[in-house]
Amino acid sequence: MIISQQKNREELLLNLEGKKRLFLIGCGACATACKSGGEEEVFQLQEWLVSIEREVTGSVVIDEACHIMRAARDLRHHRDAVAEADALVVLACGAGVQSISSNTDKRVIAGLDSLFLGNIRRLGQYEEKCSLCGECILNETAGICPVTTCAKGLLNGPCGGMEEGRCEADREVDCAWHSIYERLKKQGRQGVFARPVPPKNWGKLRKPGRLKLG
Ligand code: SF4
Ligand code: SF4
Repeated sequence: MIISQQKNREELLLNLEGKKRLFLIGCGACATACKSGGEEEVFQLQEWLVSIEREVTGSVVIDEACHIMRAARDLRHHRDAVAEADALVVLACGAGVQSISSNTDKRVIAGLDSLFLGNIRRLGQYEEKCSLCGECILNETAGICPVTTCAKGLLNGPCGGMEEGRCEADREVDCAWHSIYERLKKQGRQGVFARPVPPKNWGKLRKPGRLKLG
């Protein structure tokens, strides 16, 4: 899930300069789960906008704002309210915002900061475990990603700063490479330690990413 949080109101206010009428858009997927852009947050945003003398022409929470065709459909359903607006304020991740901006020539204002691809520990507690590097080595690292969870992103760890299994960047946190070693030992295999690991091919992390099935 994409972890996001709301921009502070001061930053949002700067972007709202000269925009009187606004159409609000939330996302029913990740941003709802993060409590940054679901129905409740869209409603709170609306209340705040009204309190600073803006007019809200309408709002919608799109099932998945990053779905370009679905966003197009929902904007069509709200055609009049969108047309009346000076700008669209979007409470969705960066992909969601661009999904909207690809469907309108109106000014689109991003209301959230997108932080990372996150695992959910429990509601409201998220952890980054994968950086989408394009060349996954989890099969050799006992399912622990050093690219993301080692503070230095090392492919050959642990570094000299590891102490009693803890990371030198934060002694409260387990060293990823120590954890990899311990888990591989429990599994009775050498995994990544069986071979020299060449430098990572960052070319696999192509931007912009594209995948077309079939
Ligand atoms: S190696 Fe790590 S960052 Fe790369 S795809 Fe696998 S889990 Fe994600
Ligand atoms: S102590 Fe471990 S997790 Fe921390 S930077 Fe060094 S190898 Fe990476």
